[in-house]
Amino acid sequence: MKNRELILDGTKLAWHEERVQQWLNGERIAPITIDMSLTRACNYGCGFCYARLQENDRFEITKETIDNFLEDCAQMGVKAISLVSDGESSIHPDYVHTIVKGSQLGISMAVATHGFNTRKEDLEKILPHLTYLRVNFSAGEPKRYSEIMGVKEEWFYQVCDNIETMMKIKKRLNLDVTIGMQMVLMPQDGDQVIPLAKLGQKLRPDYLVIKHTSDSEEGDLGVDYSKYAALEGVLKEAETYSDDDYQVVVKWSKINAQGKRSYQRCYGPPFQIQMSGSGLVAPCGMLFNEKYKKFHIGNITQTRFKDIVNSDRYWEVMNYLASPSFDAQKMCGSLCLQHKPNEYLDALQKGLISLQKPSGTMPQHINFI
Ligand code: SF4
Repeated sequence: MKNRELILDGTKLAWHEERVQQWLNGERIAPITIDMSLTRACNYGCGFCYARLQENDRFEITKETIDNFLEDCAQMGVKAISLVSDGESSIHPDYVHTIVKGSQLGISMAVATHGFNTRKEDLEKILPHLTYLRVNFSAGEPKRYSEIMGVKEEWFYQVCDNIETMMKIKKRLNLDVTIGMQMVLMPQDGDQVIPLAKLGQKLRPDYLVIKHTSDSEEGDLGVDYSKYAALEGVLKEAETYSDDDYQVVVKWSKINAQGKRSYQRCYGPPFQIQMSGSGLVAPCGMLFNEKYKKFHIGNITQTRFKDIVNSDRYWEVMNYLASPSFDAQKMCGSLCLQHKPNEYLDALQKGLISLQKPSGTMPQHINFI
């Protein structure tokens, strides 16, 4: 952990220069990283949750679909899968199976979860197969946790317990997995930044990351980006709670960008695609909602993933996003998952940087671009 850099606020795409070169040559590449969920369901009710804005036709992802999908991914050269996206994957009955099987097929696996559902027995099974596990934890005090995350106060204590259990398992089995906590910060919840930084010091995950809340094009979540500036002092103070084994990281680049993008064309999705817990394949989570149907490509509950990626429809959508007819500044919500790869690829396409494998030590979690 201490010898290799953990990049939480940047892209590692330059380390995959072969795939980037294939893309520049016009080849139909497989994504490097897939962000997906096994379900749309969740037993929390967080106020900042973007998934509420992503409603699309629900199909059930079965074990057979998961197996076919993972085998396709391994065969095509997908390097990493994160179970994050628009649902709480730990609710799915095949959650453990998916992580273990993906990892056994050679795919780097990762998870973001609220951390309530999965207890010791299953943690023992999944942690050896994960690159990282991130617990969404957006408050430092039980009462505020309950208000912000829409659950009973008791759940706060259960999740704290689970995080301590994860760290014990990691130490006992000497695992490589990185365990983190993440605060999705709404400007009005700034009072919880310091209590959470302190709580992290007590629970001892590897890191706590604090990031802005993404909002839709119409601003449905009501995030006032101008209000983040007033939290600068408190966020800087939070970083001072870091020590040798516990890093407090603020995603400054996104917070300071005030939700604005420097580019118009979107080149990121062929490298990092998102899938809904309904099985829907779309370029990104911001386009999951039914109203963006013209960007929907296919569904793994109905078509094999390898056929979807090789289809003309997939590349029609990708090429449209990368064309002059598309303008991410006007047509997208605020800063998406693909924002950092997009900045890098935009600079590459404009000739501002050249394609070169970075020198120096490879950062951690390289396959999660
Ligand atoms: S720039 Fe727009 S289309 Fe591209 S990934 Fe981000 S939200 Fe999606």
